Amino acid sequence: MKIFYYDIAVSLPLRQCFTYSSELKITKGTRVSVPFGKRKIVGVVIRNIQKPDFLKKAGAIKKIIAVLDEYPLFDKPIFDSILWSSDYYHHPIGEVFNTFVPTELRKINNKKIEALREFSEYSVNEDDKKFDLTKDQEKAVKALSKSKGFSPTLLYGVTGSGKTEVYLRVAETFIKNNKSVLVLVPEINLTPQLLSRFENRFNGEIGIYHSKQTAAKRLKTWLKAKFGSIKIIVGTRSSALVPLDNIGLIIIDEEHDQSFRQSEGFKFSARDLSIKRAQLANIPIILGSATPSLQTLKLVKENKFTRVDIPNRVDGNKPPKLIVLDINNSPLIGGVARETIEAMQSTIDRGEQVLVFINRRGFAPLYQCGSCGWVADCKSCDTNLVFHQARNRLICHRCESAYSVNSSCPACKSNDFNMHGAGTERVEEVLKSNFVKTPIIRVDHDSTKKVGAMEAIVKKIHSSDAAILVGTQMLAKGHDFPKVTLSVILNADNGLISPEINALEKISQLLIQVSGRAGRNNNLAKVIIQTRYPDDINLNKIKTGDYMKFASQCLSTNEQMNLPPFTTLCLLRCSSPTQRSNVDFLEKAVLILSNRTDINVIGPLPSLVSKSKGNYRHQVYIHAPKKTFLNKVLKFLTTEFEKWPESNKVKWSFDIDPIDLS
Ligand SMILES: [Zn+2]
Ligand SMILES: [Zn+2]
Repeated sequence: MKIFYYDIAVSLPLRQCFTYSSELKITKGTRVSVPFGKRKIVGVVIRNIQKPDFLKKAGAIKKIIAVLDEYPLFDKPIFDSILWSSDYYHHPIGEVFNTFVPTELRKINNKKIEALREFSEYSVNEDDKKFDLTKDQEKAVKALSKSKGFSPTLLYGVTGSGKTEVYLRVAETFIKNNKSVLVLVPEINLTPQLLSRFENRFNGEIGIYHSKQTAAKRLKTWLKAKFGSIKIIVGTRSSALVPLDNIGLIIIDEEHDQSFRQSEGFKFSARDLSIKRAQLANIPIILGSATPSLQTLKLVKENKFTRVDIPNRVDGNKPPKLIVLDINNSPLIGGVARETIEAMQSTIDRGEQVLVFINRRGFAPLYQCGSCGWVADCKSCDTNLVFHQARNRLICHRCESAYSVNSSCPACKSNDFNMHGAGTERVEEVLKSNFVKTPIIRVDHDSTKKVGAMEAIVKKIHSSDAAILVGTQMLAKGHDFPKVTLSVILNADNGLISPEINALEKISQLLIQVSGRAGRNNNLAKVIIQTRYPDDINLNKIKTGDYMKFASQCLSTNEQMNLPPFTTLCLLRCSSPTQRSNVDFLEKAVLILSNRTDINVIGPLPSLVSKSKGNYRHQVYIHAPKKTFLNKVLKFLTTEFEKWPESNKVKWSFDIDPIDLS
């Protein structure tokens, strides 16, 4: 009898595959159950192999217990995308599979991949289309609808230019040709408008796929998409590799958004992975944004991506004016300057709305003893605790631990405490006392936690006249607030002076995005940026509102300074309960790289947040001119690390193309 041998990825954090045998011929990507130690677990067939050399006698290789499904999990392009990302991000293959396989299919149970027999008919709701496209939109739809094969396109459309309508029309062409469409959005509850636009436009089920759904719901959607019953999926980064029968198009909305990057566990970019998928599936991909990432702009410049522009707003209005307000000599009340309050007052008097943006939730970010200077900090993390008034607790924003508020200082027993800085709660309080009759609506992580809370808030904003919206970046994303004619940015300075490598890219995107929320119905819309650095050269460039010009200057600077996206960067991250173990491990790593001239290594250094959730954190920067170089170096390191006793004392990981150095 013929025996087949297979490399199997098991759903455990292990880098290598394991060899098993079977008398059956099994397709790549099929789920099987295998013995592993004393357990029986789920594995995925990665490849068929020749009889292994180390096999002296039969029986040394364990047998596959059962083939679990009639169908493989994924088609070839997705399967290959998974292999690619495990290799590119140097992440254990089993965990990469786990990221994209619905939870219910990761364990031994009675769940199976079975073909569905229910089909959703798709048609276009013509009533939803009864308005004319602008000339720019029309051109964009024309250009994008005829793309064939792998053709990545940046759809650069200023805020308010009607990108969603373009997505809808292009998707329609593909749906009519019997293809399916995947739409990726940064965060599902921040983009209900896009989702409802798709639901209104198409008769037929629009599948929603994101990590906050129940496992059962996700599995159902996944299966429906796989077998062609759902033809349109709108989802977040975990849906990047949802199988869609006969996929014809991928759309990434707000492609610059940092939420496409997973920063815990398997650190991958859903945008980059989707581009890979589109390439392997040989289909077009549209990356839409009003503030495209430098990485995408670089690819456009190199003619690897095409670019389609929608330079004007649908309503024909000019973008709002950005005004820099020097706050060096003005006393702030809870972070708000007197001049800002006055500007807000006249906006409110006209019956319009104001948006106040502050990048921190809670009441005060620093809780300090007035006598000895003691500062409340988290026991498990290297972070100060933020005072939250509504909960009357001091909260760590890193690990979410809540501490009760001290009645006396633990260092000097004084009960004289000061609170410094301002978060959304404090700004809300200050504004309440200044605008007694105006509704003040706070939008942050705390006020939107409950299911349906965000929708209720958005409804309230739309049904109110004069109102003040106070919030974090949740306010800067996706939503349109037509009645807002003044936006205020309270602390842009953190972004301007941040040590992060892509700080300028982030702050310019944020300022332009916040300003884009406003003024859709009013040519006089303004954005006030409060700053202590009114002469900052970058701020003055951003102030012109010309994001593309600013971005292209950033791109040339990064090229000259050899910074990403012109160099490849990897952070070798390391965490453990003792600093010694981190340093020992990383120093050894640096030592074995010391004679290489093709890379640049810096470290070990403590991470910006040097302790998190009880563990110390250190890192080493590895720069390489080319991805291929870097890949080789990291492969070499992985093999070494697996041999070292030092590796057992720490948790190490590679963070490729990191977006956050903290
Ligand atoms: Zn004290
Ligand atoms: Zn903490």
